[in-house]
Amino acid sequence: MIVEKTARYLENIKKSDDKIKAFIEVWEYDAMERAKRLEIEVKNGRTPGRLYGYVVAIKDNMLYKGKSITAASKILENHISAYTATAIERLLKDDAVIIGRTNMDEFAMGSSTENSSYFSTKNPVNTNYVPGGSSGGSAAAVAADFSDVALGSDTGGSIRQPASFCGVYGLKPTYGTVSRYGLMAFSSSLDQIGPFAKSIDDIKAVYDVIKGYDPKDSTTYKTIPDVQEKKYSELKIGIVDFDTNAMDKGVQSNFEKAIETISKISKTKRIKLPHLKYAISTYYIISSSEASSNLSRFDGIRYGRYVEGADINESYGKTRGEGFGSEVKRRIILGTYSLSAGYYDAYYLKAQKARRIIKNDFVEAFKDVDVIMLPTTPTPAFKIGEKINDPLSMYLNDIFTVPVNLAGICAMNVPYGKSYDGLPYGIQFISNNFCESYLFEAAKCLL
Ligand code: GLN
Repeated sequence: MIVEKTARYLENIKKSDDKIKAFIEVWEYDAMERAKRLEIEVKNGRTPGRLYGYVVAIKDNMLYKGKSITAASKILENHISAYTATAIERLLKDDAVIIGRTNMDEFAMGSSTENSSYFSTKNPVNTNYVPGGSSGGSAAAVAADFSDVALGSDTGGSIRQPASFCGVYGLKPTYGTVSRYGLMAFSSSLDQIGPFAKSIDDIKAVYDVIKGYDPKDSTTYKTIPDVQEKKYSELKIGIVDFDTNAMDKGVQSNFEKAIETISKISKTKRIKLPHLKYAISTYYIISSSEASSNLSRFDGIRYGRYVEGADINESYGKTRGEGFGSEVKRRIILGTYSLSAGYYDAYYLKAQKARRIIKNDFVEAFKDVDVIMLPTTPTPAFKIGEKINDPLSMYLNDIFTVPVNLAGICAMNVPYGKSYDGLPYGIQFISNNFCESYLFEAAKCLL
């Protein structure tokens, strides 16, 4: 059945991906060959892996040995992965079929997939709208029925926000539960790989396979502690009182509706996250600082594109000047500035202190509740081109997602409700370290 299913997805891609543009590359031959081989092996009696039967799309920032990888950047044109990311290795070990690599904002910087150096991906629900970002290609692939599930990476919302815009589930796991080995680093203290799916069972299945200790990533936990099991009706849900200025009215009333539904099933309590308002500035300083350091390796000598100059400095300048897009340059400049000797205390150090305070808001909240509930984004999907020339308004779309990465905890987008013109809304459930099971349970309340 996996051969038939893979063929069907490939057919869907052929039919509609020239409109959606979810994929940078489709591995048609490999996917079909692998599906055939797996099906024969299983027919011959081999026990199927946990992801046997799943067709997966992967974001173009996860290494898969022998395959091209670009992080949607010109600077990595023609770059081939020298090894395979642990998360991908685990998918393969458990019999998933990988169908292709998906479009994204360059180096995962953005909220609309318009920062890809290739093309913009369209929202499958309505192609005049963005699919969100930076993992917009992965979200679109799942929503457009090009794959069962997909992997994305989430540094400040890049799984949850596109999941919300495209109407699918998207999980940002607890920092350190999924290996980052083979994930191109954007901001190492915030990045985490996670799945997109059309159901709670599927998202859980993929998470169960990719999670766990990896000796190649020293930030992964040796053991993931078991948490006390709780059914959805036993969960205590904290509902955040937030500033509704600049909130889309539809998102707000949809959130109220979700609260009403959930209050009938679980215990709820109004809570405050008093430092939420500092999250955007804190996130953009920390993530850009780390990015400026991580991206210094792209100098034309070690990876990808090289542009000759009169001397080494000019070569670096030309390579990076031509290879990076404007959003990436903006982040490198902002990060370098925040880390520079004269401004380190005022920006980077201050942001680290603010990060701790934001984290403490969650520590306090989780003394009393199991799960926190917020909208995933302040607006539904916006129109293609609407925010691309206004980076600040693009950044503000991340208000509800970035605090989770700053705190290192887990969160999931749950598709719930639609705007009058059919655009999906999303509810975000947030839980403490290692409490992904509470997210899966809480999501059941909104089925
Ligand atoms: N939109 C956020 C940013 O531009 C988040 C990106 C991400 O999670 N990779 O940084």
